[in-house]
Amino acid sequence: MNSREQPAVLGRFAPSPTGELHFGSLVAAAGSWLEARSRQGRWIVRIEDIDPPREVAGAAERQLDTLASFGLVSDQPVIRQSRLRQQHDIALASLLQAGMAYFCGCTRKQLPANGVYPGTCRDGIPEGRKPRSIRFRLPNRAIEFDDRIQGRQCQQPTLDSGDFIIRRADGLIAYQLAVVVDDAIAGVTEVVRGADLMESTGRQILLFEALGWTPPSYCHLPLVTDENGRKLSKSDADDPVAKYPPGEALRLALRALGHEPPADCRTIGSQWNWALEHWQLDRVPRGPVAVGMQAAVR
Ligand code: GLU
Repeated sequence: MNSREQPAVLGRFAPSPTGELHFGSLVAAAGSWLEARSRQGRWIVRIEDIDPPREVAGAAERQLDTLASFGLVSDQPVIRQSRLRQQHDIALASLLQAGMAYFCGCTRKQLPANGVYPGTCRDGIPEGRKPRSIRFRLPNRAIEFDDRIQGRQCQQPTLDSGDFIIRRADGLIAYQLAVVVDDAIAGVTEVVRGADLMESTGRQILLFEALGWTPPSYCHLPLVTDENGRKLSKSDADDPVAKYPPGEALRLALRALGHEPPADCRTIGSQWNWALEHWQLDRVPRGPVAVGMQAAVR
């Protein structure tokens, strides 16, 4: 295949506006950008704002400002996931019609504590219950895929989650479906994100297949923890990355990705240039990596 026949590379960064971008988000943004750009691809930002109860007012704008302070700007107008509801509904309808999704009448209290759905409503909602959510009917098989950083993966969604929710009882579209539809519509070819989303990937690939679409390729970046090995997250008020000088924060993010530029690359531009020139997925650690923002950045 010559280079003109290769499909164009499209990467993305897809934060949920549930708080400030933290250091782990910067690592995901940087990794997805470097992977796309090092292959002459484009990179887009999608704000995953489909869960209003979890949204923090103004967070999306602050996230975009923070990205811009690192020179990270979407190559296309920023996508708001909430505006794609019609496409989510079309995908839902087609899964229902094909028998690959079904209505479920179970409340949380009626489900086992381990969170694995036992299939109660697979063949119809039991007497006396009303339809609440919609679940994906999982094929009864394992799913294997190659992660370009973490290697070959084999997952068993039937044992890990069971038939999972794609439309919630409150009517909101669940992350698993929205992310698949949106990546497909945008034509995303490379999903590069944190390793915490690895366990969702098998389910997402099965959704791609059920909808008749080709899944993108996947890279899961090392999980970033604080010095005590605790995972960073947007919602528990971890250190916002915007608090630190961008040049220092970017250096730490590139270090976490196994691509720390030499000390004389001081500006953001020179750090990006160095990382782009040297970017190789096999230099990215599988993780987890502990990075102490407080200690390392004065
Ligand atoms: N919106 C998700 C998050 O902020 C990421 C989704 C994805 O990259 O697939 O954790």
